[in-house]
Amino acid sequence: MASTRFDHHKLSGRILFALGLGLAFGLAINATIADQPWVQLWLLDGLFRVVGEAFVRLLSMLIVPIVFVSLVVGVASFSDPKSLGRISGMAIGLYMVTTAIAVVLALSAALIFQPGVGANPGAAVAREIAAAPSFIQVLIDIVPRNPVEAMAQGNMLPLIVFSVLLGPAVAISGEPGKRIAALFDDLNVVVMRLVGIVMTLAPYGVFALVANMAATTGWGAFAGVLKYVVLVFIVLMIQALVVYPLLLRTLSGLSPAIFLRKMRDALTFAFSTASSGATIPVTLRALQERVGVSNKVSSFTIPLGATINMDGTAIMQGLATGFIAQYYGIDLSMSQYVVVVMMVIVASVGAAGVPGVGLVLLAGVLTQVGLPVEGIALILGVDRILDMTRTAVNVCGDGVVTTIIARAENEFDESIFNDPDAGGQMMPAAA
Ligand code: ASP
Repeated sequence: MASTRFDHHKLSGRILFALGLGLAFGLAINATIADQPWVQLWLLDGLFRVVGEAFVRLLSMLIVPIVFVSLVVGVASFSDPKSLGRISGMAIGLYMVTTAIAVVLALSAALIFQPGVGANPGAAVAREIAAAPSFIQVLIDIVPRNPVEAMAQGNMLPLIVFSVLLGPAVAISGEPGKRIAALFDDLNVVVMRLVGIVMTLAPYGVFALVANMAATTGWGAFAGVLKYVVLVFIVLMIQALVVYPLLLRTLSGLSPAIFLRKMRDALTFAFSTASSGATIPVTLRALQERVGVSNKVSSFTIPLGATINMDGTAIMQGLATGFIAQYYGIDLSMSQYVVVVMMVIVASVGAAGVPGVGLVLLAGVLTQVGLPVEGIALILGVDRILDMTRTAVNVCGDGVVTTIIARAENEFDESIFNDPDAGGQMMPAAA
């Protein structure tokens, strides 16, 4: 076991190293050879894209099996059906509270620092932004018509509903139920191992993703909108390093520093992939194996959070709304700000945690308060790096809420939390 632990630490270190190296390498390319056709064709759209996208696909490939299997195992183990209701209530409530804090912080920052006044975003990059589905449709779509359809399309909420219904059915089915439960228990172990195997490829995937972003974004994109970018970063940091630690400390009494250290793989993955959905397998693994949260709680709250909780995205939406209003010289009334807060909290419910979905949500918010949707073009050029950063905050928020609930429900193993080496056992045996 000792050598496995060593490997696990080594891998975490290598993933972080790959992140830094990718950033440096990408920036160097951007400053030197990025406009050469062969660099674009063979490196950025070639090697980096293949390695990066293949890695994100491998992670995405794990989402449906892991959510389905671990959730059935988790729900089948509830002896008291009321506790599932309690956990759902707490999760939805806390997810909404953290999002509300995030968007209020962002709007306040926008009002105080006025990032849109005098902004000069240069040539706006136009792009078609899809419309977000209506809230009523989102509510209807939560109920699965066909579980295979939900799985095939990776739709998290109907998949959660199906698994949550199947779990108790397994639990009350006597002998056949026991056999199925044992099968799912075994599958859960195997799928978690698969996560460990995919993780060994992470340094390459992370390097390619980050290098590609840095090579294509460069500094130029930031010029006229620097104030907006800096403000988004600062408010994201406040959420991650002040709001979450305060919540974690006051509601669960746990050390935020240890928590963040244990979540670092999940946060690195979230940053690199800009997808809280694709990060689900890594988030679950970090919470269960390193933080000490039970499968029972995390298998439910993490896929739920990846879909309905997007605090980092809420921060971007709040600041972007302020930015666009100020840029066009439009004053928003108090009631319009209230609409923004409500919209931001509600709209994220139906949105999958995938790259760039925040812009789709933003389009919905802008429409609601009568701001020009074309305004999004002003911030499009810098959105990828902000997307990556806010996704890390989204995932961090899911982890904090999950940990708080697990602690309140006695579904938390403090010895795992306090063990700096915990988590090594999830590596594949041969690694
Ligand atoms: N990429 C974010 C996520 O997956 C969503 C967004 O802000 O675009 O959580």
